[in-house]
Amino acid sequence: METQQLNNGLKMPSLGLGVWQSDNGQEAINAIHWALEAGYRHVDTARIYKNEEAVGEAIATASVPRDQVWLTTKIWNDDIRQGRTTAALEESLGRLKMDYVDLLLLHWPVDGNTRAWQELERALSAGKVRSIGLSNFMADDLEEILQAGDVVPAVNQIEYHPYLVQSEAITACDEHDIVITAWSPLMQGKFLEEPTFAEIGEGYGKTAAQVVLRWCLQNDVIVIPKSVHKKRIVENGELFDFELSEEDMQRIDQLERGQRFGPDPHNFDF
Ligand code: NAD
Repeated sequence: METQQLNNGLKMPSLGLGVWQSDNGQEAINAIHWALEAGYRHVDTARIYKNEEAVGEAIATASVPRDQVWLTTKIWNDDIRQGRTTAALEESLGRLKMDYVDLLLLHWPVDGNTRAWQELERALSAGKVRSIGLSNFMADDLEEILQAGDVVPAVNQIEYHPYLVQSEAITACDEHDIVITAWSPLMQGKFLEEPTFAEIGEGYGKTAAQVVLRWCLQNDVIVIPKSVHKKRIVENGELFDFELSEEDMQRIDQLERGQRFGPDPHNFDF
């Protein structure tokens, strides 16, 4: 499994399984087991996905040891606003039945995020988390965290795919060696409506999904595609045996049109 070097010295697997909208039971457990069998070593959950119990059970019962699986979870907005980040982490660890997570993110930039960041720093010192980072933080929100904190975030998880490249946020992150993770890398399934990916894939014997995910990886972005179907999970994992040419990379670059499939971090109401 390829990895990305983080600014804290740890290596984070470049491919993870996203589990948003996966049921908190056998559905998520099966998906994670299939992913680990297919070579994934990274799972992305969040308190708000309401499936941390299943995620914890899947990792505990997998054939891969816990210390070889990268587990990310996130602090939800209400917990940040209410100043209960530390308590929320303890609750997540309880549901996961784990004594640490590999990466803990603030899920969205909301009031209280600088205090929440300081709580994350304390959790890091206490060994409850191996890395801390952000999600959906644009350049201005990131600047607030950098001003208030002692630890530079290791990761920023943002919406990223060929229709939405977010260059301003990425440039700000690059300046601080903050690695980008792409959420909705498969455009929530809408990649199938863009013929370019399948056309390019034909030249490599690869599917449209594999082309989109490989384009992200070649831009040094970590991907966490979601699926609960074994065939798709396996397909989405077969990314490391081909390389897109510079010409094909540029053809995909040209599709950028600032189109979001999820909420705008500068304008959301939850
Ligand atoms: P995604 O872009 O990964 O798309 C998933 C959908 O694409 C699936 O539901 C399925 O319909 C389709 N699909 C997947 N593999 C396919 C294949 N091989 N062939 C055809 N169709 C396929 O969408 P996502 O779930 O929004 O994002 C991935 C993960 O990112 C989430 O599960 C979650 O972990 C994370 N996420 C984080 C945030 C955040 O705010 N931090 C927001 C959204 C998602």
